[in-house]
Amino acid sequence: MRALAIVVILLLQVTVFCFTSAYVSWEMPELEGYRSLLERLTGRSVNGTYILIIASSAGEFSELSGIGYWFLAAATGNTIIVQPLSLVQNLPRTLAHEMSHLILRDYQLPYWLEEGIVCYITGEWVGREEIILDEVKTLDYSKMDFMTYRSYSYTCWVEVSRLLRNRSFGELIAEFGEGGKRRIE
Ligand SMILES: [Zn+2]
Repeated sequence: MRALAIVVILLLQVTVFCFTSAYVSWEMPELEGYRSLLERLTGRSVNGTYILIIASSAGEFSELSGIGYWFLAAATGNTIIVQPLSLVQNLPRTLAHEMSHLILRDYQLPYWLEEGIVCYITGEWVGREEIILDEVKTLDYSKMDFMTYRSYSYTCWVEVSRLLRNRSFGELIAEFGEGGKRRIE
């Protein structure tokens, strides 16, 4: 009976979730440029293999990741979840974004700083312009809608680019890392 229940649960899961999965690694040639930039910035070697889950719909993405359907991707633990590939314009850059988050989590930075450094690595805001948000360091990004989160991410990138002009990565870590007072998460 119990075995039957397990089979039924497994079948239900197969029916409800239609995602596909794969492995992604910093060894992938498409990520080489991002990897070397991250290595130069942090001064450490960057490695790692992660599980990639490709959702079959935006609704499924939201259900799997626990965040809004308008986000492109999410990273948690050792897993990266992305929207259906038809919605992802630049998969290597999206992967580099999420994998950089996973590397930088070791430093326990406040989220605005982590997001800004990640976007510095991917260069995704270069040549684009969004609204600059005030007080970005105190905002809670988790409840933001699509447009606000774009502005948030852009503002984090502008702020980090400014900081990195006259400070090293090590100085930023010393100031903000490891549960510093300004940590939000
Ligand atoms: Zn991000």
